[in-house]
Formats: sequence, structure tokens, C-alpha cells
Amino acid sequence: MSDAGTIYLDYAATTPVDPQVAARMAECLTAEGAFGNPASTHRYGREARALVEAARAQVAALIVARASDVIFTSGATEANNLAILGLARGARAARGASQAVHVISSRTEHKAVLDPCRQLEREGFAVTLLTPEDDGRVTPAQLRAALRPETVLVSLMHANNETGAIQDIAAYGALCRAHGAALHVDAAQSAGKLAIDVKAMGIALLSFTAHKLYGPKGIGALYVEPAHRVGLQPLQFGGGHERGVRSGTLAVHQIVGFGAACELAAQRMAAESARQAQLRARLWAGIGSLPGALLNSPLEHCLPGLLNVSFAGIEGESLLFGLAELALASGSACNSDSDEPSYVLRAIGRDRETAQSALRFSLGRGSSNEDIDVAVAAVRREVGRLRALAQDTLAQDSVDAPVAGEAGSRETGTWVRFMLKTAGARIATATHQAYGCPQTLAICEWLAAQLPGRPWLDPGLGGALDWVRMRDLPADRLTRLLVVEDALRAALGAAERQGGARSTIGG
Ligand SMILES: *Cc1c(COP(=O)(O)O)cnc(C)c1O
Repeated sequence: MSDAGTIYLDYAATTPVDPQVAARMAECLTAEGAFGNPASTHRYGREARALVEAARAQVAALIVARASDVIFTSGATEANNLAILGLARGARAARGASQAVHVISSRTEHKAVLDPCRQLEREGFAVTLLTPEDDGRVTPAQLRAALRPETVLVSLMHANNETGAIQDIAAYGALCRAHGAALHVDAAQSAGKLAIDVKAMGIALLSFTAHKLYGPKGIGALYVEPAHRVGLQPLQFGGGHERGVRSGTLAVHQIVGFGAACELAAQRMAAESARQAQLRARLWAGIGSLPGALLNSPLEHCLPGLLNVSFAGIEGESLLFGLAELALASGSACNSDSDEPSYVLRAIGRDRETAQSALRFSLGRGSSNEDIDVAVAAVRREVGRLRALAQDTLAQDSVDAPVAGEAGSRETGTWVRFMLKTAGARIATATHQAYGCPQTLAICEWLAAQLPGRPWLDPGLGGALDWVRMRDLPADRLTRLLVVEDALRAALGAAERQGGARSTIGG
């Protein structure tokens, strides 16, 4: 699927609503449609309630559950919060505040699981976060070793949203059953893509969301095994909807859309998985052969449409910036407030640079062979360009060797080298090599274009502060541009030494 020249390869972030689903939703909004409140007892209410219950059955069928065990929420974030906070707080209330309550999860979970776990720690619960293996998977043995007598809840995701790694849920389920702990599964990425059978897999609670499976945003569900429903403390109160677990007027149009999307996903799952696996193979065949390409997805245990790849020696921000025709996610920290690249990739042992240079391709129903071919060509072009630019070898121009100066290092995120040829007191030519963020590369390019013809003693191009002002860059770019300034100074200094040496010899 592409629009205005941008190919969408970010289906793991969200999906477009299927047109059939949108049509069903539209029938629940206006006066002619089922706009009633499902809690009302009159005809309008009954009509809306019937649609909600039909949708609940469709949603439940996707995970082989009973409709009465499905609770509608605003999405997977709320479902995860309800499961984790609700179950742990309920266990404490039942056991008494003096009893220890222990929860197990993993470092590669979505923030919608990690943040409620952190909240539990603040509330005095004991939380263990497992570190998965290099392939992103938690081994059943790791879980077995972490279980304690006071463990009440284990929360592990089915498929990871960054790497696509599929976890061995059935093995965790058997362990939890035997131990008497509840297994909660965040299935936001897997529902509608992988077969799920809550009973057969030993799942006590399961979260999923409509907008990752071609349904609307703002609606999701939590499956709760009946044995755990009484112990689940609600997060919000008022009206006692959804068996008292989740109060609030039901969003009929969202629920109807979710139900329709689940039914379509079930029908299409097998064929679509096979199709996406083929597209992914085509993608990996095209970019996996690039030097330095490093797979972050365990292909033999991975969502069919997902491929996470790092490119050694390539600055991630510049890579993403150069791939303007693709809409995709990266491990780069450039757009996050933390300045830390992907915590998921860091947790499975990738170093900062590798995590920073990761791209996540996630394919979907709209993806075609043509999309993949455009993506492959774009990635090959950008990786080739950035690698050539960052090449750490001086030109073998021994007759007319240029003077050079450099600064920074790849480890710190910015490295720059300028190479100048001089003619008398002036700069004849200037070239550069660089590794860094897009703004750094742009300033280097601009300087290299401006330098020829100017005197090397003072080319009059200003320094980092001027460049920040000139390009209206955020102040945090200054340290990176200081590296550019240092490299330029070093090159000009080398020119001055060479000029001085020549004039000494000549004099
Ligand atoms: C998208 C996602 C969520 C959040 O779901 P929302 O419905 O957007 O709140 C949670 N967990 C995983 C693994 C996800 O991919």
C-alpha cells in the first residue's frame, strides 16, 4: 500500500480499518442505525445490546474463548493495566497486606506492561523482570527458575512488537498452571496473525486490541478466565458495566468494528500469513546480503510479516532520514525523549550503535511485491551512500595528497574528516567523510561546498554556534556540530602547517 509516494511498512504500529469493518461501524452511529445505549431496556437499547453480544462472540472466537469471559476495554494498554494492576492488587487484598505478592515479567515487554509493573513496585509488590536470550525469547527454564511460592502473576507477551519474536506461551502456561500462578499474555501483535487457544495454552488473562488487526483504534479486550474474575480489582468505577470489572458506556460502533475485524482476521489468517512470509523472504533476500546487515528477528520463531535489521556502521537517524519514501519504524533514539535507542534490542544484547541503526519492517494486507522491491532499492541506496560517506580510508592520492583533519568517534555518534587541497594561500578543493545525524551530515556537505576558493587561514564560515543559528537547529545539536568545527579546524591547521613548511622550504 502506498500513498503520495510513501510506502507503508509500519503495520505493527497500526493498521487501516478494513472497508467492510468501517461500513459495519457506520451503521451504529446515526439515528437510522443502532445508536442506542446497550444498558437501556427499550428497543434501541436491546438492538445495540444484541450487536455488542454478537461482536463479543466474534472476538471470543478468535482466541477460542467463551463470549462471557471477554471484557471490552479501550485497547491493549488498558487491558494490560487492568490485568496486571487488577490481579496483583486483588491478590494482596485477599491475602492481607503483610503477605508478599510476587509478579514476573520480562525486559522486552511493551511499555503498557512494563509501566504497570513499575507501578506495582512503587506499591510494594516484588517484581522480577526476566532477560530473554539473544533471540528475544524467554526459555521455560528461565521462568521455572524465577517462580516463587508467592508468585501470583506471570505476564509475558505472545509476539514482540519490535523483533517479532514469538514466545513459547503453551510452555509458560503449563508451568504457571502447575505452580498456581496466573499467566497473562499481551497478544496485541499476535491476535489475528497467530492461532491462539486460551484454554489449550494455559492462559488465564489475555490482552488484545482492534487497531493492530484492521479494526478501529480505541477498542480492545481482556480475556479473563472465570476463576480469576472475582479477584480482579477494577481500575475504574461507575455503573458496573462488563460484570463490574470495567465501568463505562459500551462503545457500540467500536465493539461492532472489533468483532467484524476479528472474524475477517480469522478467515484470512492462514493465507495472509503465508503471503506475508513470502514477502518478508523477498525483503530479507534483498537487504540481508548488504555488508553489515544484522538480523534482530529470530526468523524461525517470528511473526510472518515482521523483519528487524540493523546495519553495522550506519548512523540510524541518517538512515531513516534518507528513506523518505518508506514509512517505517527504527530503533533510533532521535524521536524519543530518552536519547536511549530501543530498550528491547539493548535487553537482548545489542550494543547502542546496533540498536540505533535498527529498522523495523512490518508488512500487512496492503503490502505487495512492488512495495518490497522499492523498499529494497531504497535501503540498498541509503546504506551504500552512508557507508561510502563514513568510509574511514584516506584517498590513495599520493602525488597530490590532500591535507586532512578529523574529530569525534563513531562510539560517541559523530565522526567527521575534512580533506583539503590547497593552491597557494587558498583552498582548491574540499571533500569530507562523516558519520552522524542528518543535520551533521548536511552541515559537512554545505561546508565542503563553500570552502573552495577561500583562504585556509580564515575561510570565514563561522563555527558551530553560527551553524545552529543558521539552520535553526535545536540546541542539543550543538555538541555534534562542535565535532564538525573541530574537524574543520584540524584540517585548516594542517593546511597552515603544510603552507608554512612549503614557504620555509621555498624561502
Ligand atoms: C500496540 C501494542 C500495545 C498497545 O495497544 P493499544 O491498543 O494501542 O493501547 C500493547 N502491547 C503491544 C505488544 C502492542 O504492540
